[in-house]
Parts: sequence; structure tokens; C-alpha cells
Amino acid sequence: MIELNKQYERFGISETVYRFGESILNSLEPRFKQIDEIAEYNQLKVIRAMQECNVSEACLLGTTGYGYNDLGRDTLEKVYASFFHTEDALVRPQITCGTHALALALMSNLRPGDELMSPVGKPYDTLEEVIGIRPSKGSLKEYGISYKQVDLLADGSFDYDGIRAAISDKTKLVTIQRSKGYQTRPTLSVARIGELIRFIKDIRQDIVCMVDNCYGEFVEIIEPTDVGADMVVGSLIKNPGGGLAPIGGYIAGRKECVENAAYRLTSPGLGKEVGASLGILSSFYEGLFLSPIVTANALKGAVFAANIYEKLGFPVVPDGSESRHDIIQAVTFGCPEGVIAFCQGIQAAASVDSFVTPEPWDMPGYDSQVIMAAGAFVSGSSIELSADGPIAPPYAVYFQGGLTFPHAKLGILKTLQNLVDQQIVSADFDRL
Ligand SMILES: *Cc1c(COP(=O)(O)O)cnc(C)c1O
Repeated sequence: MIELNKQYERFGISETVYRFGESILNSLEPRFKQIDEIAEYNQLKVIRAMQECNVSEACLLGTTGYGYNDLGRDTLEKVYASFFHTEDALVRPQITCGTHALALALMSNLRPGDELMSPVGKPYDTLEEVIGIRPSKGSLKEYGISYKQVDLLADGSFDYDGIRAAISDKTKLVTIQRSKGYQTRPTLSVARIGELIRFIKDIRQDIVCMVDNCYGEFVEIIEPTDVGADMVVGSLIKNPGGGLAPIGGYIAGRKECVENAAYRLTSPGLGKEVGASLGILSSFYEGLFLSPIVTANALKGAVFAANIYEKLGFPVVPDGSESRHDIIQAVTFGCPEGVIAFCQGIQAAASVDSFVTPEPWDMPGYDSQVIMAAGAFVSGSSIELSADGPIAPPYAVYFQGGLTFPHAKLGILKTLQNLVDQQIVSADFDRL
């Protein structure tokens, strides 16, 4: 028998915390098996897409300058389109992050006088400035694009009457955020997104339905474009980059939507034809290839964390047993000290920057202080083991990532050890 506990001891994890972790893990075998099956399915899906598009060694090279006839870039976009079952895709290192990808999709597909609508409540924090909910230079609002929002009902279901009432002749595009983001609402399953899109398209077929797919890719065996979404948008330093992509974002969808985005990203007249890939493509291809398994590892970490903290009596979203639709795990500590101790535990488990101690700070794009733990190979990557939380009630922490499950496990055990050491949690686990 390998004495794993001795290894954990070297990281400051007590025998009691280690054994509590093992008891939780033992109960999770069937869940992990299910996650592995989804990963296997999606792995084959990705390989199939690469084979269909004739990915070759030459695709892994890059272009410079204008980037005309970039075989690797154009083929990768075909691979994404094939995977998402869409007409086209835009997958570029020039898309700097998820917010940029979403802003690009919105700004290129909306025109002055149009209205944007969110039928799933408040969008992700950084989109408030894109839309102009919080005044901001260059927002959609400054360009004469208005915004309406319909919140989810108290039980998390769609407010169909409210949505019907909010749709007018001006409504051009509906944005549906799959993941909960910095909220404690449930994440939407692809099936639920499909129901919502069907309802909207029944009112008006020509309303563009866009899904913010951040953190959702590869968690299920279908994607929102399989249930009627016109566009899915996401970040390559989350799930689909597999931890290897050092930058980038994607938009996959109907040809016209993707074309609009391409003309906005580069220039009218140039569109997808320019945009050198430099030397970055092999990380995009290999990251996508690894992504189903990497996402599964992150999911296992999230399920493990949910079960640990649920057992300790903290509110967790999703709960320990419910089905998963993104890789984010929210744990509500009810006090700033809990959020801080958790994030510092995640940081202490990192391979990069384990010796620094994260503190709350005023982060651009967010309206309260935020603490972030991110000891990552790719700066800010949240498919890597990371945690963050706004220092504001209900004092919830959002945990995600872990390229390998053992790393996620170490991180979670470190958070618990921290909370025990600071007496926020009692180590008398036998009472539970
Ligand atoms: C991360 C995220 C974004 C923004 O992506 P960044 O890369 O951080 O700019 C938008 N929406 C959701 C749901 C996200 O999780």
C-alpha cells in the first residue's frame, strides 16, 4: 500500500482532515464513473471532429503578418464548427478573453435601435459594463442599443409571462448565460436552455439566441447549439482550451452571426481572412483534444468540494448530489473570513505561486472587492485550480478547475485544513 496520507502530511494536511476526505471520496465512486463516461463520449466527439476536418501536421504551424491563408486557423475553426454542429466558428488568439468574445458577439450582431434581452436575470459582472447597465465607455448603451432583463422566478424557473411581455419588435438578440457566474442561482442544463430557446423562437423565429457558454463546455454530451442556439460564446482559458491555450476566445454559430463577429473583430471587408495565428495553434488543438478529460477532472473536484462542505453544513450550489451543468462550485460561508481562508487554501496548493497569499482587492469590472486564488501556468486561467469570491454578502466562494483530479483534491483538502486551523470549522468530523 502506498501511504498517501504521508504525502498529504507534507502539505500540512492532518490525518483527521485526510481521513474525512477519503470517507467522502468513497461515497462518490458512482458519480465519478458517470463523469468519466461523459468525458469518454466527448473525447470521441473531439477526435471525430478533428478527423472530419483533416487536421494535419501542417495545421499546427502558424502564420505571421496578415495571416492570409492560415490553414491551421481556418481548419481549427472548422473543427469547432464540427464539434458544435454549427455552420461556422471564429476561434482566435486576438479574442483576448471571455468578456471580449461576448462583447464582440453582441456588438457585431446588434445595431443602433435594437434591443438586447436577458431572460435569465443579471448577466455576468463584466457584461454589465459591456451592456451599459453600469455606465461605461463604448458600451452598447452608448451606441443606442437598449437592454431588458427578466429575472428567474424565486424557484429558479423561467418567468415565461415576463419574457413574453419583454419581447417587442425591437428585440433583436437574447443572451442566455448557461453558468451561474457569481450568483447562487442554479446553472442551466442544455435541455433547459433548449426549452427557453423554443419558447422564444415560437414568439419570433428571427430573434438571435446567444448562449454564454463559459464553464459549460464538455460537461454534458450535447451543447446549446444542439438545441437551437444561434451562437455559443466562450473563453479558451476555461474549458475548451484544456489548460494549454494561453489566450483566446471562440464564437460558434450560424454563418451570418459568425461573419458579423469576424468583420467586427478585424475590419469590414477583411473579416476572417486576416489574423495571423503566430505559433499558438498547436496549443489550441492539443488543448481542445485534452479538454473533455480536463473538464472531467475539474468536475470531480467540484463534486468533491460540494460533498465535503455540504456535510459540514454550509450551503452549496449545486448540492452534493444534483446533476452538473458547469464546473463551478459555490460554497456560502456567511462571513468574509471563510471566503478568505478558502481562497488562501487553494493558492497554497498551487504549483506556481504557492508561496503568495491572496488578499481582497478592487478588481476592474467588478463592483465589490474580490479575492482570487490563482496559482496558474496561464495567468488567470480558471480551468486550472482556482477560486474567487466577492467580499460581499452572502460571502460565497466560487471554486473551479483543476487540470488533474489529484491537484483539485489537494486544493480542497488545503481549504478545509485552513478553515479548521482558523477554527471556522470544527475538526470533530465524527459528529457528522
Ligand atoms: C468567465 C466568464 C465570463 C467572462 O470571461 P473572462 O474571460 O473572465 O472575461 C463571462 N461569462 C461567464 C458565465 C463566465 O464564467
